[in-house]
Amino acid sequence: MTSKTHVSLGVAFAAPLVTTYSYNIEYILVALIGAIAADFDVNLPIKHRTWTHSILALSISTIILSTFDKSIALFWFVGYSTHLVADSFTKMGVPFFYPFIKENYGLKLCTTGKTTDILIRYIALIAIFYFCYIYILNTVNFNFLLGLQ
Ligand SMILES: [Zn+2]
Repeated sequence: MTSKTHVSLGVAFAAPLVTTYSYNIEYILVALIGAIAADFDVNLPIKHRTWTHSILALSISTIILSTFDKSIALFWFVGYSTHLVADSFTKMGVPFFYPFIKENYGLKLCTTGKTTDILIRYIALIAIFYFCYIYILNTVNFNFLLGLQ
């Protein structure tokens, strides 16, 4: 998946936590960073889609963050999880159990940057717009439009 799709999915799945459970909207930024964090490996001297795309990396990073702030850890977990699941839909798959099992898993249905990737991104963007609408309805007082106080 492209980074645009990862960001869209991370935000789309984190947004309900803000609209439904009233977490601060600033936490969306944590989910956004979590959604692209697994691909930081392309800037490191390690093989792409190895340990950063594992449940172990997801677990360790979430546990470390939870020692500082549980809400940050939750949004990180949501963002990072969407990355792993989304990448599992690509032909390459994801080594969920790395380094114990180095095999890549997933549905392997789409190619990064191709039609399915773009389609998933647009569905996520529609979900984001929906949650923005809900957020605005919940936070903005529209009484002034109705002549009410
Ligand atoms: Zn990735």
